[in-house]
Amino acid sequence: MTVRTRADLDHIPGYVPGRSLPGAIKLASNEVSAGPLPSVVEAIGKAAGEINRYPDNGATELVRHLAAKLAVPESQVAVGCGSVTLCQELIQATCTDRDEVVFGWRSFEAYPVLVRVVGAQPRPVPLTGTHELDLTAMAAAITPATRLVFVCNPNNPTGTALRRQELERFLAAVPDDVLVVLDEAYREYVVDPDVPDGVELAKEHWARGRDNLVVLRTFSKAYGLAGLRVGYCVAPEGVAATLRKVYVPFSVNSLAQTAAIASLAAEDELLARCRDLVGERTRVRGELLAAGYEVPRSEGNFVWLPLGERTAEFNEHCLNHGVVVRAFVGDGARVTVGTPEENDAFLAAARSFELG
Ligand SMILES: *Cc1c(COP(=O)(O)O)cnc(C)c1O
Repeated sequence: MTVRTRADLDHIPGYVPGRSLPGAIKLASNEVSAGPLPSVVEAIGKAAGEINRYPDNGATELVRHLAAKLAVPESQVAVGCGSVTLCQELIQATCTDRDEVVFGWRSFEAYPVLVRVVGAQPRPVPLTGTHELDLTAMAAAITPATRLVFVCNPNNPTGTALRRQELERFLAAVPDDVLVVLDEAYREYVVDPDVPDGVELAKEHWARGRDNLVVLRTFSKAYGLAGLRVGYCVAPEGVAATLRKVYVPFSVNSLAQTAAIASLAAEDELLARCRDLVGERTRVRGELLAAGYEVPRSEGNFVWLPLGERTAEFNEHCLNHGVVVRAFVGDGARVTVGTPEENDAFLAAARSFELG
């Protein structure tokens, strides 16, 4: 006899992480190139002496710091083992089979996989011709079976960001019993003043008596803790309480909790790094445009090259120049903005590619 696993899992493609090649420059996973801050490493070192104990299951101290920073009650904050886990937990909290999850496509590649793993139905909605989430089409894709909508802002991998007016119009159109998840993994890199802070937007939404909006953030990107796995969700009390029910016990480990708290204490230093990165983002995009590439304006720590059928070839070309980018074959390549030297190496590779 063979073990019977769920037949519906047979056709799920595995999550494909960004490649790592020894010696190559890795611009494939939207990580921070600079190493962790010394103060954060020191805090982890101290906490390492207590890893014989289970972590604080409620991440009490981290939740307290986050609630204070965001000016929300602690009951409105839920942590997760990376915000990708929170994505899964939000689907588990809202969907059983036959329920539908709407998201733009292309967007964060984990969404369709997680929806399938939970057993619900993915409803991808094509982006606009200018590589932006099409909120009008996404609202139209909502049916009585829809339980959740992912809105990635700025959108990974295209970098485009939605502005306040279009978000408000969309939120007004979504029924009260459908949860909108605003995934703000790249919030700290946003400079466009018309792009609202999701937590502020959520507070205004909740004040209208509507409790169907939550915001996801992570310590993996701007805070540089991708290897430790910790993110958080700001949600109305009822949703946050349900999230805690589907939380895998102890899944946010003690080193991650300690490092996240230490990173909040060093926030000014980390946000200064973000400002430097935004300068590099502007430079990289400008040079790519000058070289003839189409590059949507990005509010993330990456740029998107919609190369279509030439994506695989571009990917090989970059690999041959010692630069690993993230290729979505047939669609485009996403390139993380790294240090000035890493960006120069990538730009040299991009300039020597025959665009045709
Ligand atoms: C990177 C990323 C995440 C995952 O972050 P983790 O906290 O590392 O799990 C979530 N959403 C989007 C859109 C991302 O790009």
